[in-house]
Amino acid sequence: MTRSVDVAVIGLGAAGSATALSLARRGLRVAGFDRHTPPHPWGSTHGRSRVIREAYYESPVYVPLVQRARDLWLQLERDSGRPLLRVTGGLMLGPPDGSLIAGSRHSAEIHGLPFECLEGSELRRRFPIFRPGPDTVGLYEPRAGFLDPEAAVEAALTLARAAGAELWFETLVRGWETRGDGLLLTTSAGPIHAGRAVLAVGPWLGEWPPHQKRPPEIERQVMLWFTPCANRSQFSAEVAPVFIWEWSRGRLFYGIPDHGTGFKVARHHEGVLTAPDTVDRTVGEVEVAELRELLARCIPDANGSLRESAVCLYTNTPDRHFTVGLHPAEPRVVLLSPCSGHGFKFASVLGEVAADLATGVTPGFDLAAFDPRRAMA
Ligand SMILES: Cc1cc2nc3c(=O)[nH]c(=O)nc-3n(C[C@H](O)[C@H](O)[C@H](O)COP(=O)(O)OP(=O)(O)OC[C@H]3O[C@@H](n4cnc5c(N)ncnc54)[C@H](O)[C@@H]3O)c2cc1C
Repeated sequence: MTRSVDVAVIGLGAAGSATALSLARRGLRVAGFDRHTPPHPWGSTHGRSRVIREAYYESPVYVPLVQRARDLWLQLERDSGRPLLRVTGGLMLGPPDGSLIAGSRHSAEIHGLPFECLEGSELRRRFPIFRPGPDTVGLYEPRAGFLDPEAAVEAALTLARAAGAELWFETLVRGWETRGDGLLLTTSAGPIHAGRAVLAVGPWLGEWPPHQKRPPEIERQVMLWFTPCANRSQFSAEVAPVFIWEWSRGRLFYGIPDHGTGFKVARHHEGVLTAPDTVDRTVGEVEVAELRELLARCIPDANGSLRESAVCLYTNTPDRHFTVGLHPAEPRVVLLSPCSGHGFKFASVLGEVAADLATGVTPGFDLAAFDPRRAMA
């Protein structure tokens, strides 16, 4: 006889692990599937750190979500006994009228968030590792920091299993068809009947029935870790903030202080388009040299020996907002794709939101910007 569950979660990375936990804690019969053994380095959730920030330059609509996400990360920390969130403060750098500074300020003002504007000698005195030019100002938010993505996925899955979820690793879900009042999923471990499903397959989303006019674009991203060549103590997470820098109009790079693994830096976007199973995972010398040029100009003391590098994947929508909502062609399926390069911080709350959607509960957030049906040119 075919196994039957209330909800199947397809993909147990950042978003799927949080969803499985939220559903299992509601007392539902949950089966989670992953083609790999999460946490793993083949999708979007590896590299030991992810920025969390509140004064959201992309849109104020994200602020209530990140506030709830933060509470849930702290709860996951308590429940799992694992450190997940490190508060370092966050420094946004760029032209005062650029999208990063103006957008962060707008969100901070609308939501009454604490922030400081810094410029000139005061900016250099407070954060001596950075070398901003005369047209660059800073916006500092004290509650920002970074999360540990691998530990978070592991913690959520361990607690989901403890709450009764069945977790199937190294198990591919190939598709679904409508069966009775639910779905029949085809998996590499056999068929499974699920009342509802949450599709949280990260960069593999393009393999599934389309939900928008344009499929998501999968973008290769390179992360680099450096050993600073001078003033090393100034780069540690005890002292340095996470940062994002609009170094040229609309072009961003970011970094995370050294917490034992080196000073991490990466560009935000500007990667080549690819696919998760064929992406080139070797970091080229030119890519390192390009980032070194940025460091030489903006953070020269960071430009020491390269300690490590890794390739990761963004799943981009055309407007760079997430995809969260019911599948337009199959309302028994919840689409959950919080990426475009900024989704990890929200995984905890969006797991809760997806669990709401899968159980007919109206989520308490404005999700219009993430509607899978939104018109795309
Ligand atoms: C380099 C880089 C830096 C980033 N920095 C930040 C940051 O600082 N802050 C931030 O908030 N966000 C950041 N992000 C974005 C964030 O990491 C992603 O938004 C988030 O990790 C996406 O999680 P996900 O659950 O959608 O995907 P994933 O975690 O990749 O999970 C998808 C899972 O689905 C599984 N799967 C796929 N297909 C199937 C199938 N058919 N059957 C079964 N299982 C399947 C995969 O194996 C995988 O485990 C960054 C991303 C990258 C790449």
